[in-house]
Amino acid sequence: MQDLKDIIRDVNDFPKKGIVFKDITTLLADPASFHKMIDLMAHRYIGKKIDKVVGVEARGFIIGAALAYKLGAGVVLVRKPGKLPYKTFKKSYDLEYGTDTLEIHEDAIKPGERILIADDVLATGGTMGAVVDMVQQLGGDIQDCCFMAELEFLHGRAKLPEGKVFSLLKF
Ligand code: AMP
Repeated sequence: MQDLKDIIRDVNDFPKKGIVFKDITTLLADPASFHKMIDLMAHRYIGKKIDKVVGVEARGFIIGAALAYKLGAGVVLVRKPGKLPYKTFKKSYDLEYGTDTLEIHEDAIKPGERILIADDVLATGGTMGAVVDMVQQLGGDIQDCCFMAELEFLHGRAKLPEGKVFSLLKF
């Protein structure tokens, strides 16, 4: 696993001063690392009858789609406002400064469907917390929230359903 951690690039002071940004594009661009990362994540959910994988814009789409393909599941998009064409369900959530909003098509998940949610990095957990709320309000049965990497010092998993958080790489 250390090889996967090592290939993720740290970018200092992005998007603003004081933040160390985990740039996963270096891992995605390496064929062996991308393959290994998806296989290791998908392995946990094989046989778990996942109906749909929800991917969070934008890097969550890449991971979510690859996982869904491996699991024989559908893909659902959670997007920034104004991008989804059909009727949407919206959720606003707090950021460090101000708020942000995410949207999902209101018919993207049917009550009782078994849902895996995927994103690249778990930081403060605000984004995933909002996605969890949306999926639950549509009646989805959340099996897990999975991440390629987790910034443990930000304690994001405390905002998410207990026992339903998995991250492959911990920083
Ligand atoms: P959060 O809501 O704080 O858990 O973070 C939400 C999103 O911001 C995640 O989808 C990450 O893609 C991104 N993010 C936040 N902090 C970082 C970081 N230090 N490095 C890379 N991505 C980050």
